[in-house]
Amino acid sequence: MTPDGKHALVTGGGTGIGLAIARALADAGAEVTITGRRAEVLDAAAGPRLHPQVMDVTDEASVTRGVAQAIAARGPVQICIPNAGIAEGRALHRTDTEFWRRIMATNLDGAFWTVRECLHDMRRAEWGRVVAISSIAGLRGLKGASAYTASKHGLIGLIRALSEDYLGTGLTFNAVCPGYVDTGIVSRNAAAISERTGMTEDAARATMIAANRHDRLIAPDEVAQAVLWLCGPGSSSVNGQCIEIAGGQV
Ligand code: NDP
Repeated sequence: MTPDGKHALVTGGGTGIGLAIARALADAGAEVTITGRRAEVLDAAAGPRLHPQVMDVTDEASVTRGVAQAIAARGPVQICIPNAGIAEGRALHRTDTEFWRRIMATNLDGAFWTVRECLHDMRRAEWGRVVAISSIAGLRGLKGASAYTASKHGLIGLIRALSEDYLGTGLTFNAVCPGYVDTGIVSRNAAAISERTGMTEDAARATMIAANRHDRLIAPDEVAQAVLWLCGPGSSSVNGQCIEIAGGQV
Protein backbone atom coordinates (compact mmCIF):
# COMPACT_ATOMS: atom_id res chain seq x y z
CA MET A 1 0.00 0.00 0.00
CA THR A 2 1.45 3.39 -0.95
CA PRO A 3 0.58 6.74 0.67
CA ASP A 4 -1.40 7.52 -2.51
CA GLY A 5 -4.96 8.52 -1.61
CA LYS A 6 -4.43 7.89 2.09
CA HIS A 7 -5.26 10.33 4.86
CA ALA A 8 -2.12 11.31 6.80
CA LEU A 9 -2.05 13.52 9.89
CA VAL A 10 1.16 15.34 10.84
CA THR A 11 1.24 17.19 14.16
CA GLY A 12 3.38 20.33 14.04
CA GLY A 13 2.94 20.08 10.27
CA GLY A 14 3.03 23.81 9.60
CA THR A 15 6.78 24.30 10.03
CA GLY A 16 10.20 22.68 9.82
CA ILE A 17 10.45 18.90 9.78
CA GLY A 18 6.67 18.42 10.02
CA LEU A 19 6.05 20.56 6.94
CA ALA A 20 8.74 18.71 4.98
CA ILE A 21 7.09 15.39 5.92
CA ALA A 22 3.63 16.70 5.03
CA ARG A 23 4.87 17.88 1.62
CA ALA A 24 6.63 14.57 0.91
CA LEU A 25 3.45 12.64 1.77
CA ALA A 26 1.31 15.01 -0.31
CA ASP A 27 3.71 14.63 -3.25
CA ALA A 28 3.25 10.85 -2.88
CA GLY A 29 -0.50 11.36 -3.25
CA ALA A 30 -1.71 11.48 0.37
CA GLU A 31 -4.29 13.93 1.67
CA VAL A 32 -2.46 15.44 4.62
CA THR A 33 -3.90 17.15 7.69
CA ILE A 34 -1.31 19.50 9.17
CA THR A 35 -1.88 20.54 12.76
CA GLY A 36 -0.46 23.16 15.10
CA ARG A 37 -1.57 25.91 17.47
CA ARG A 38 -1.23 28.88 15.12
CA ALA A 39 -3.90 29.17 12.40
CA GLU A 40 -1.90 31.76 10.46
CA VAL A 41 1.16 29.48 10.25
CA LEU A 42 -0.97 26.54 9.09
CA ASP A 43 -2.83 28.67 6.53
CA ALA A 44 0.50 29.84 5.08
CA ALA A 45 1.65 26.21 4.77
CA ALA A 46 -1.64 24.92 3.31
CA GLY A 47 -1.85 23.99 -0.37
CA PRO A 48 -2.89 21.17 -2.67
CA ARG A 49 -3.44 18.07 -0.45
CA LEU A 50 -2.27 20.02 2.66
CA HIS A 51 -5.19 20.78 4.99
CA PRO A 52 -4.80 22.93 8.12
CA GLN A 53 -6.31 21.90 11.47
CA VAL A 54 -5.77 23.92 14.62
CA MET A 55 -4.99 21.58 17.53
CA ASP A 56 -2.96 21.99 20.72
CA VAL A 57 -1.27 18.66 21.53
CA THR A 58 -0.95 19.58 25.23
CA ASP A 59 -4.75 19.64 25.57
CA GLU A 60 -6.53 16.27 25.39
CA ALA A 61 -9.88 17.80 24.41
CA SER A 62 -8.22 19.80 21.64
CA VAL A 63 -6.55 16.65 20.25
CA THR A 64 -9.78 14.63 20.43
CA ARG A 65 -11.70 17.42 18.68
CA GLY A 66 -8.95 18.13 16.12
CA VAL A 67 -8.53 14.50 15.05
CA ALA A 68 -12.33 14.02 14.90
CA GLN A 69 -12.68 17.10 12.66
CA ALA A 70 -9.90 15.84 10.37
CA ILE A 71 -11.59 12.42 10.15
CA ALA A 72 -14.97 14.03 9.41
CA ALA A 73 -13.37 16.01 6.57
CA ARG A 74 -11.10 13.39 5.01
CA GLY A 75 -11.96 9.99 6.44
CA PRO A 76 -10.04 7.75 8.85
CA VAL A 77 -6.40 8.64 9.48
CA GLN A 78 -4.24 5.86 8.04
CA ILE A 79 -0.83 7.49 8.54
CA CYS A 80 -0.15 9.26 11.84
CA ILE A 81 3.01 11.31 12.38
CA PRO A 82 3.43 12.60 15.95
CA ASN A 83 6.02 15.28 15.24
CA ALA A 84 5.01 18.34 17.32
CA GLY A 85 7.63 19.06 19.90
CA ILE A 86 9.58 21.66 21.78
CA ALA A 87 13.32 21.35 22.24
CA GLU A 88 14.55 23.45 25.14
CA GLY A 89 17.48 22.47 27.29
CA ARG A 90 18.01 23.09 30.99
CA ALA A 91 20.24 21.32 33.51
CA LEU A 92 18.14 19.47 36.07
CA HIS A 93 19.06 21.83 38.93
CA ARG A 94 17.45 24.66 36.90
CA THR A 95 14.42 22.59 35.85
CA ASP A 96 11.23 23.55 37.67
CA THR A 97 8.06 21.50 37.53
CA GLU A 98 6.38 23.87 35.09
CA PHE A 99 9.25 23.47 32.59
CA TRP A 100 9.33 19.66 33.00
CA ARG A 101 5.55 19.41 32.53
CA ARG A 102 5.58 21.65 29.44
CA ILE A 103 8.20 19.47 27.71
CA MET A 104 6.47 16.21 28.65
CA ALA A 105 3.00 17.51 27.74
CA THR A 106 4.10 18.55 24.26
CA ASN A 107 6.56 15.81 23.34
CA LEU A 108 4.99 12.81 25.06
CA ASP A 109 1.36 13.39 26.15
CA GLY A 110 0.68 14.93 22.73
CA ALA A 111 1.93 11.82 20.92
CA PHE A 112 -0.06 9.54 23.26
CA TRP A 113 -3.37 11.38 22.63
CA THR A 114 -2.81 11.82 18.89
CA VAL A 115 -1.90 8.17 18.25
CA ARG A 116 -4.73 6.90 20.46
CA GLU A 117 -7.31 8.96 18.56
CA CYS A 118 -6.06 7.65 15.19
CA LEU A 119 -5.69 4.05 16.36
CA HIS A 120 -9.39 3.10 16.50
CA ASP A 121 -9.88 3.36 12.72
CA MET A 122 -6.48 1.80 11.95
CA ARG A 123 -7.38 -1.25 14.00
CA ARG A 124 -10.75 -1.55 12.24
CA ALA A 125 -9.08 -1.25 8.81
CA GLU A 126 -6.22 -3.56 9.83
CA TRP A 127 -3.75 -1.15 8.24
CA GLY A 128 -1.91 1.82 9.68
CA ARG A 129 1.46 3.52 9.86
CA VAL A 130 2.69 5.50 12.85
CA VAL A 131 6.08 7.20 12.62
CA ALA A 132 7.11 9.30 15.61
CA ILE A 133 9.70 12.05 15.37
CA SER A 134 11.99 11.37 18.30
CA SER A 135 15.61 12.57 18.35
CA ILE A 136 19.14 11.38 19.01
CA ALA A 137 18.09 12.46 22.52
CA GLY A 138 15.83 9.41 22.42
CA LEU A 139 18.86 7.17 21.95
CA ARG A 140 21.40 8.71 24.29
CA GLY A 141 21.62 11.35 27.01
CA LEU A 142 21.79 14.89 25.63
CA LYS A 143 23.89 17.14 27.86
CA GLY A 144 21.92 19.94 29.51
CA ALA A 145 18.55 18.63 28.33
CA SER A 146 17.28 16.09 30.83
CA ALA A 147 13.55 16.77 30.36
CA TYR A 148 13.87 16.73 26.56
CA THR A 149 15.96 13.55 26.70
CA ALA A 150 13.43 11.85 29.00
CA SER A 151 10.53 12.86 26.74
CA LYS A 152 12.22 11.57 23.58
CA HIS A 153 13.24 8.29 25.27
CA GLY A 154 9.61 8.02 26.39
CA LEU A 155 8.40 8.44 22.83
CA ILE A 156 10.61 5.54 21.70
CA GLY A 157 9.31 3.43 24.59
CA LEU A 158 5.76 4.17 23.45
CA ILE A 159 6.55 3.16 19.86
CA ARG A 160 8.27 -0.06 20.93
CA ALA A 161 5.40 -1.03 23.23
CA LEU A 162 2.78 -0.32 20.54
CA SER A 163 4.70 -2.46 18.04
CA GLU A 164 4.30 -5.33 20.51
CA ASP A 165 0.67 -4.59 21.42
CA TYR A 166 -0.54 -4.58 17.80
CA LEU A 167 1.89 -7.09 16.32
CA GLY A 168 0.49 -8.90 13.29
CA THR A 169 -2.52 -6.59 12.91
CA GLY A 170 -1.35 -4.72 9.79
CA LEU A 171 -0.20 -1.72 11.80
CA THR A 172 3.45 -0.68 12.20
CA PHE A 173 5.02 1.73 14.66
CA ASN A 174 8.47 3.22 14.10
CA ALA A 175 10.47 6.30 15.01
CA VAL A 176 13.12 8.44 13.39
CA CYS A 177 15.82 10.01 15.53
CA PRO A 178 17.34 13.06 13.86
CA GLY A 179 20.43 14.94 14.95
CA TYR A 180 20.51 18.69 14.41
CA VAL A 181 18.14 19.60 11.58
CA ASP A 182 18.10 23.01 9.92
CA THR A 183 14.83 24.39 11.37
CA GLY A 184 13.74 27.10 13.80
CA ILE A 185 14.70 24.83 16.71
CA VAL A 186 18.41 25.06 15.86
CA SER A 187 18.23 28.86 15.47
CA ARG A 188 16.36 29.24 18.76
CA ASN A 189 18.80 26.89 20.52
CA ALA A 190 21.78 28.85 19.17
CA ALA A 191 20.25 32.07 20.53
CA ALA A 192 19.55 30.45 23.92
CA ILE A 193 23.07 28.99 24.23
CA SER A 194 24.56 32.33 23.25
CA GLU A 195 22.52 34.13 25.90
CA ARG A 196 23.41 31.58 28.59
CA THR A 197 27.12 31.19 27.86
CA GLY A 198 28.18 34.41 26.13
CA MET A 199 29.28 32.35 23.10
CA THR A 200 28.33 33.92 19.74
CA GLU A 201 25.30 32.43 17.97
CA ASP A 202 27.55 31.33 15.10
CA ALA A 203 29.82 29.48 17.55
CA ALA A 204 26.81 27.84 19.21
CA ARG A 205 25.54 26.77 15.80
CA ALA A 206 28.98 25.36 14.97
CA THR A 207 28.86 23.09 18.04
CA MET A 208 25.55 21.65 16.81
CA ILE A 209 26.91 21.19 13.28
CA ALA A 210 29.97 19.38 14.68
CA ALA A 211 27.77 17.08 16.78
CA ASN A 212 26.22 15.65 13.60
CA ARG A 213 29.50 13.84 12.79
CA HIS A 214 29.18 14.49 9.04
CA ASP A 215 29.76 18.14 9.86
CA ARG A 216 26.63 19.74 8.50
CA LEU A 217 23.06 20.38 9.53
CA ILE A 218 20.52 17.87 8.25
CA ALA A 219 17.93 19.10 5.75
CA PRO A 220 14.29 18.63 6.87
CA ASP A 221 13.65 16.71 3.64
CA GLU A 222 16.23 14.06 4.63
CA VAL A 223 14.05 13.25 7.63
CA ALA A 224 10.93 13.42 5.46
CA GLN A 225 12.30 10.85 2.99
CA ALA A 226 12.96 8.36 5.81
CA VAL A 227 9.43 8.88 7.11
CA LEU A 228 8.00 8.47 3.62
CA TRP A 229 9.80 5.14 3.29
CA LEU A 230 8.44 4.00 6.67
CA CYS A 231 4.92 4.79 5.39
CA GLY A 232 5.37 3.02 2.06
CA PRO A 233 5.29 -0.55 0.79
CA GLY A 234 9.07 -1.15 1.03
CA SER A 235 9.07 -1.08 4.83
CA SER A 236 6.12 -3.28 5.73
CA SER A 237 8.42 -5.70 7.62
CA VAL A 238 9.93 -2.86 9.69
CA ASN A 239 8.22 -2.49 13.07
CA GLY A 240 9.28 -1.09 16.44
CA GLN A 241 12.47 0.43 15.00
CA CYS A 242 14.23 3.75 15.55
CA ILE A 243 16.29 5.09 12.66
CA GLU A 244 19.10 7.47 13.57
CA ILE A 245 19.45 10.33 11.04
CA ALA A 246 22.46 12.16 12.43
CA GLY A 247 25.46 11.19 10.35
CA GLY A 248 26.37 8.41 12.79
CA GLN A 249 26.07 10.22 16.15
CA VAL A 250 24.82 7.18 18.03
P1 NDP B 1 9.71 23.53 14.73
O1 NDP B 1 9.78 24.43 15.90
O2 NDP B 1 9.69 24.12 13.36
O3 NDP B 1 8.45 22.57 14.83
C1 NDP B 1 7.76 22.28 16.00
C2 NDP B 1 6.28 22.19 15.63
O4 NDP B 1 5.56 21.72 16.75
C3 NDP B 1 5.71 23.54 15.22
O5 NDP B 1 5.00 23.41 14.00
C4 NDP B 1 4.77 23.88 16.36
O6 NDP B 1 3.62 24.58 15.89
C5 NDP B 1 4.40 22.50 16.89
N1 NDP B 1 4.00 22.55 18.28
C6 NDP B 1 4.75 22.92 19.35
N2 NDP B 1 4.01 22.89 20.47
C7 NDP B 1 2.77 22.48 20.09
C8 NDP B 1 1.55 22.26 20.78
N3 NDP B 1 1.44 22.46 22.11
N4 NDP B 1 0.47 21.85 20.08
C9 NDP B 1 0.56 21.66 18.74
N5 NDP B 1 1.66 21.85 18.02
C10 NDP B 1 2.77 22.26 18.70
O7 NDP B 1 10.95 22.54 14.88
P2 NDP B 1 11.31 21.16 14.15
O8 NDP B 1 10.59 21.04 12.88
O9 NDP B 1 12.77 21.07 14.17
O10 NDP B 1 10.76 20.08 15.20
C11 NDP B 1 9.86 19.04 14.87
C12 NDP B 1 10.16 17.83 15.75
O11 NDP B 1 11.47 17.35 15.44
C13 NDP B 1 10.14 18.10 17.25
O12 NDP B 1 9.49 17.04 17.91
C14 NDP B 1 11.62 18.10 17.62
O13 NDP B 1 11.84 17.71 18.94
C15 NDP B 1 12.15 17.09 16.63
N6 NDP B 1 13.59 17.17 16.40
C16 NDP B 1 14.13 18.32 15.87
C17 NDP B 1 15.50 18.42 15.69
C18 NDP B 1 16.17 19.63 15.13
O14 NDP B 1 17.41 19.74 15.21
N7 NDP B 1 15.46 20.57 14.51
C19 NDP B 1 16.38 17.28 16.04
C20 NDP B 1 15.69 16.12 16.55
C21 NDP B 1 14.35 16.08 16.73
P3 NDP B 1 2.92 25.78 16.75
O15 NDP B 1 4.00 26.45 17.53
O16 NDP B 1 2.30 26.64 15.70
O17 NDP B 1 1.91 25.10 17.59
